[in-house]
Amino acid sequence: MADDQHTAKVCSACKVNILIEGFYKDRGAKDGRARRCIVCQKAHLRTYRAVNSSKIVAQKKTWYARNAEKQRARVKRWAEDNPDRLALRKAALYQKDLMASRERGRIRAAAWRAADIDHAKSVVRRNSMAWREEHKFEARYQLENRVRRSMHRSLKGTGIKGALRHLDYSLDELRTRLFLTIPVGYTWGDFLAGELHVDHIRPIASFNYVSVEDSEFRDCWSLLNLQLLTGQDNRKKSARLDWTPACKLAA
Ligand SMILES: [Zn+2]
Repeated sequence: MADDQHTAKVCSACKVNILIEGFYKDRGAKDGRARRCIVCQKAHLRTYRAVNSSKIVAQKKTWYARNAEKQRARVKRWAEDNPDRLALRKAALYQKDLMASRERGRIRAAAWRAADIDHAKSVVRRNSMAWREEHKFEARYQLENRVRRSMHRSLKGTGIKGALRHLDYSLDELRTRLFLTIPVGYTWGDFLAGELHVDHIRPIASFNYVSVEDSEFRDCWSLLNLQLLTGQDNRKKSARLDWTPACKLAA
């Protein structure tokens, strides 16, 4: 019956006679419907995509390249027409990004703890205030090293660098002071070569400070307390014990 032909047809793939509504519309086809039934068409597309994924990606790329200008204009227009929705999208993206990076951080931290639990515990302890209080001598030692390093870096460069910024003299003033205290027979080059040491006239260990805010820190590293000394003389001086190590006394 003619009427039957319009209300059902055989799917080209599964060969089942199916109602016409079971096929996608296809304006190019003679009867206005696709050759495969919807179920078969979906399966076909799935397989096609799986087999040709790289080809599809390449096709999309080519399409975007060809239509980049138009596409950008369209996106721009959309953004101009929908400022509120754009703001929402940006906020959502940012949130998603933030959550993802936090999650990555959590995973990394968990892996780090799991790798060496004792080490992890010791790091947490070290960062606590109580630990810092207990180990202020180490803090003092580290600060000393920082100032020494920064003094050498500054003297070899063109400006005051690092921890030395906490003191109130300029690089020129420091240079002049040290220059004037070069031992007889030595030169500035000897200092740069490490032959001469920056020495504290009143020994460094006799000052009581643990941070750059302490007034004794400034006294200890003041220009008037600094001089250049040969390595040999400096060692001899360190061995002398006619001064009181204030830091040890305080403990
Ligand atoms: Zn079918």
